[in-house]
Amino acid sequence: MRKIIIAIDGYSACGKSSTAKTVAKALNYTYIDTGAMYRAVTYYFMEVKFISLTNEKEIQRALGEIDLDFRYNAKTMMNEICLNGASIEHEIRKMSISEKVSEVSTLKQVRQFLVAQQQKMGKRKGIVMDGRDIGTVVFPQAELKIFMTADIMERAKRRQQELLAQGQLVPLEEVLDNLKKRDFIDSTRTESPLKQAVDAVVVDTTYVTLDEQVEYILQLFNATIARQIQGQS
Ligand code: C5P
Repeated sequence: MRKIIIAIDGYSACGKSSTAKTVAKALNYTYIDTGAMYRAVTYYFMEVKFISLTNEKEIQRALGEIDLDFRYNAKTMMNEICLNGASIEHEIRKMSISEKVSEVSTLKQVRQFLVAQQQKMGKRKGIVMDGRDIGTVVFPQAELKIFMTADIMERAKRRQQELLAQGQLVPLEEVLDNLKKRDFIDSTRTESPLKQAVDAVVVDTTYVTLDEQVEYILQLFNATIARQIQGQS
């Protein structure tokens, strides 16, 4: 069976991870949430080690102490991110991490550390990876690239509901403010800014359901595979 890399980039809270997870399941591919990796590093830096983000030595030392992997939790039926063997899936979704993650993600040392791991995870293909720089930096050669976007208010409402489902009651204004700040930092940073790859297909999720998004991406997947087969015959 022919395997490819599906890269899904876009703004915060556009539905990238729900879509990527469902597409991966339908194709029997591995789903990799790179945002969870940046959140895990942020958690270690800010809530375990309390390091200074301007001290390169401290950053390097802390990175050397981090071992990340994704493990299946039979209870939640989800792959959860583990830091040095322990699941921190719940901790990384807190607003305190959302407040700091974009700042940590601007650091070159952090990006080099995580991009190398992400590239390793995709070596055998058969993955759906979502993030901000997957189609531009991590896998510029990905066979299928999606760039997701949606109206900011719609995104804020969706994220607020997600947080509520996790037991966090956050005012809409606060969620909206956090999304705007992260979008700004993510798309203006020097290192691997969030931008649409020239060969990415844009998917605006404002008015479409999750099922419709997934269906569309599966159609694009089938067309990509068909093109590959044609190209070989
Ligand atoms: O996807 P999620 O919203 O959980 O990502 C959290 C943050 O991690 C983003 O706002 C961004 O700052 C950073 N990130 C990144 N590059 C990626 C994935 C996430 O810089 N590939």
